[in-house]
Amino acid sequence: MKQAEVDALFARPTRRRNSVLSVYLNVDQSHRINLNRGFERQLKEMSTTLRRSFKEDPAGAGLAPALHRAEDFVSAYTPQGRGLALFIDEADGFFAHQELAFPAANQVRWDRELLLQPLANALDELETYGVVVVDRTKLRLLLVQQGEIEELFNEEISGKRVRHVKSTGPEHAESSNHNERRADNQIRENLRDVIQRVKEFFKEQEPRRLILAGTPETVAELRKMLPASIESRIIGETRLAMSAPVEGILSVVQPIAAAYERSTEIERVTEVVTTAARKGKAVVGLGQALQAINSDRVWELMYSAGFQAPGFKCSECSALFSAETPECVYCGSTMHSLSDIVERAVEHALRKEAKVEVVSGEAATVLNAAGGIGASLRRRTKPPVTV
Ligand SMILES: [Zn+2]
Repeated sequence: MKQAEVDALFARPTRRRNSVLSVYLNVDQSHRINLNRGFERQLKEMSTTLRRSFKEDPAGAGLAPALHRAEDFVSAYTPQGRGLALFIDEADGFFAHQELAFPAANQVRWDRELLLQPLANALDELETYGVVVVDRTKLRLLLVQQGEIEELFNEEISGKRVRHVKSTGPEHAESSNHNERRADNQIRENLRDVIQRVKEFFKEQEPRRLILAGTPETVAELRKMLPASIESRIIGETRLAMSAPVEGILSVVQPIAAAYERSTEIERVTEVVTTAARKGKAVVGLGQALQAINSDRVWELMYSAGFQAPGFKCSECSALFSAETPECVYCGSTMHSLSDIVERAVEHALRKEAKVEVVSGEAATVLNAAGGIGASLRRRTKPPVTV
């Protein structure tokens, strides 16, 4: 999944009337129900239910053609990942599909905006990171994306210069001390090649995090020589055999990445909770978090995995509320109720280019004590959004 594609989805506008169909489909072929194109039947069943729920409802105009487009696509679709997401907007003919490397729960929604929470959660949990495996003479570069690993580079880096060290000739007579020094220089030369490769890797793949693996001495040397911009991305180190199979590498680095994700979650949640208590640039609790979203003040929204709450949405300006009021405080329009306001909060935050962090474990325990949801705020406040 390319970041640019995801950003384009997050940036899609809210429509004035229902025109957006979102489909999440579990296509995992290790599930018996999905075999023999079972996922296609699943979509048909969901489509029927959805069509029925909008029968004789003016908000259902455009639903039938949107469902046709989704069903057409799925009828010719060969599963590649574990899940499939489809986004269709009848207002401008938009169509996008995303292969998902995680098992998506089946759902369809016909609405004024895209259903993005499942996608955003998965992206947060499965952040892209690079893996550098290195020893004195060899370099391997791998990328873990959406929980899947890919090897992009695997080569000897000893080249001609190492042969030069080993060659006979004038050096023959040199002291072993001198030879050792030359060997040290050689290692440093190789490391410079490694650094060059790693820099190119960063430029091409843009991983936000990096794990170093291989021979501990070489890893330590490399770490000292890496530019600060790359060094600051390192989230862990591990000893690893250069010949390790690709899937074996994944099983070693995955726990490191997961542990890092958990530890940063605790740090960030604690920061938000304490800052909010000081009345600083953060808020906690559903009401305050929604208010911050409505006025476009959220820099990062965080909530506990599984946290849901009913709420209300303005029928005109889409502002979100945890408690019902006779009319929208922003535009005076009528409100309608939603079964899960948290999901909308996530989508609104994404559209307003805020970051979204879903936390679990210890971080969720801390956040739940403060209302299950919170946000760190932007420095400068913009006026509330009114349409
Ligand atoms: Zn309103």
